[in-house]
Amino acid sequence: MIDQVTIAKIMDAAQIKDVVSEFVSLKQRGANYIGLCPFHNEKTGSFTVSPAKGIFKCFGCGEGGNAVHFIMKHEQLSYVEALKYLAKKYHIEIEERELSEAEQQQQSDRESMFALNRFAQKYFSDILKNHIDGKSIGMSYFQERGFSEAVIEKFQLGYCLNEQDAMTREALKNGYKKEFLQKTGLSYFSENGRVADSFRGRVIFPWHSLSGKVIAFGGRVLDARTKGVSQKYKNSPESEIFKKGNELYGIFQAKNAIVREKCVYMVEGYTDVISMHQCGIENVVANSGTALDVAQIRLLHRLTPNITLLYDGDGAGIHAALRGIDMLLLEGMNVKVLLLPDGEDPDSFARNHSAEEFVEFIRTNQLDFIRFKATQLLADAKNDPLKKASAITDVLNSVSLMQNTILVSEYIKLCSDLFEKSEAILYSELNKLKAKRNKDEFVKSEEFASPLPTENTFLSLDTDLSNSEKNILRFVLQYGNETVLLRNNNGEEVEVRIAEYILKELRCDNLKFSDTLHEIFLTELEQHLGDEGFSPSTFFVTHQNPDVSLLAADLLTEKYQLSRIFSKNDVTEKTLNAMTSTAKRRIEELKKQQEEDKKIWLINAVNSAINEYKKIVVSSKIKELERCLRDNTAADVTQMMKEHARLSEIKRKLASALGQVVVK
Ligand SMILES: [Zn+2]
Repeated sequence: MIDQVTIAKIMDAAQIKDVVSEFVSLKQRGANYIGLCPFHNEKTGSFTVSPAKGIFKCFGCGEGGNAVHFIMKHEQLSYVEALKYLAKKYHIEIEERELSEAEQQQQSDRESMFALNRFAQKYFSDILKNHIDGKSIGMSYFQERGFSEAVIEKFQLGYCLNEQDAMTREALKNGYKKEFLQKTGLSYFSENGRVADSFRGRVIFPWHSLSGKVIAFGGRVLDARTKGVSQKYKNSPESEIFKKGNELYGIFQAKNAIVREKCVYMVEGYTDVISMHQCGIENVVANSGTALDVAQIRLLHRLTPNITLLYDGDGAGIHAALRGIDMLLLEGMNVKVLLLPDGEDPDSFARNHSAEEFVEFIRTNQLDFIRFKATQLLADAKNDPLKKASAITDVLNSVSLMQNTILVSEYIKLCSDLFEKSEAILYSELNKLKAKRNKDEFVKSEEFASPLPTENTFLSLDTDLSNSEKNILRFVLQYGNETVLLRNNNGEEVEVRIAEYILKELRCDNLKFSDTLHEIFLTELEQHLGDEGFSPSTFFVTHQNPDVSLLAADLLTEKYQLSRIFSKNDVTEKTLNAMTSTAKRRIEELKKQQEEDKKIWLINAVNSAINEYKKIVVSSKIKELERCLRDNTAADVTQMMKEHARLSEIKRKLASALGQVVVK
């Protein structure tokens, strides 16, 4: 854990413009900077950086946050990893805090497994490079495949000796525990005390997480031993650090290239990935033969919406491709498919071609998925009219998953040509499929919805409540340090900060925000409002809790900026100098008037936000009471009726109250 002082130092050093410009070219526009968003495809810049607020915001895709959020998102790192990344960039030494016992408990299992995997990876690599068997068996296998030293290093390939338990003994000798050798699946302990290395006699392909941690291993038996072995490849079992459906082989080595090339190639095997890297194509990952999982697709989608599936020309490849397509479409990916020439796989093709040739081959031969699917299914159906009809439905079903109506119309045109059916018929079929799916989804959501109609009103109350809390926080962040003159109970005028005013108004009624994240803002505001030079926006945007800082950044960059109303009519110093003294005085008066108008507007807006919030709180209490009375669960009915009357009166007052505070 990184201690708070260090986090503050990092936040302070990591100026948003500086951090972002390493990845995005920015142009100044007024007080802000504009560039092309790195998180979605765009031609005109809607990606905005505000150095004054310390935040970025894309008005195209909605991404936003402070410098740490930017690095988290861009480099696909966790919060702590992003902090470390920035600390390194700004030469800040990290002082890690001792973990609490509970945190240790939570972290230690995963950490121990990562540590063991790191050890095992180094051990396997060392054997491959230095042990006589490693060199003569493992290394010669990789060399036969044409892998260079550089690519072996890049993918941290290794070899596990064909001995009973050499790796396990070495790990135990180095203090790694049996428990984690078992949990990671590196070793096998039988009940009668026999111990074995799970990957013995195999070359090793480590799996890395997006941030480069070794999360699992794949092991391949060597050709000489392949005969009679049922499993050519073996993977680490699922564990706390390895969920196969969430991971993709090669993602760590590919992530930057995927973002740079704005597309990813999906292949089947480890050696496909490595050979393509060696050939010079780095935006490639593998899911090692199984069907794609939604989590894997989302992982990719964070990097690019464009995917090309590369498959061997044989039947198995084609069917794997067809299976994955619908899920990719549902997740909004643009899918293309490339079948390699007969007898070739990405591995062999990469070994015999240059990167330019390979990329050119992909470019000219890849088919968009509809054409691919339609062609394949039509070929299967031959002249069977029933099969042909079901092929049409199948393809249209895929089309119906797409959100982009222009693309849909293009695909309908294409299908009309391929299937020799009129577009009108295909559209009517498409609409039927959509209607059916909507109905299915409706039924599904009905099943989940509560049958009690009263619950729904509570649900909407909840969102109203959360929104009204956010609305108040928006004033805290945008205007918290502005002051207004108020008259206190003794009739004296006092200058009060908006943040202070809001806090008092809420706390005098003992109100706490219902959303725990929102309540953090209030609690910390109470603690730090008196700090010297305290600025709510800076404090919360650079807050050490990433959820807090993200929400703060969001509330500061709403499309509708309240202050815009008052930012017009600004007279520059230069114009002012050129004016006559009478005109100058008038302008000064106007400015003063405007300043006062703004304060009146502000306090009224704050008051109505607070009243709105209180009204919602009171309404939900009234509803709760009414429910108790209706269900006869009330212990003391008279008391409840009294409370009901009292709350109703408050609600009435709140509804009519607005801007009752005296403002000068
Ligand atoms: Zn964007």
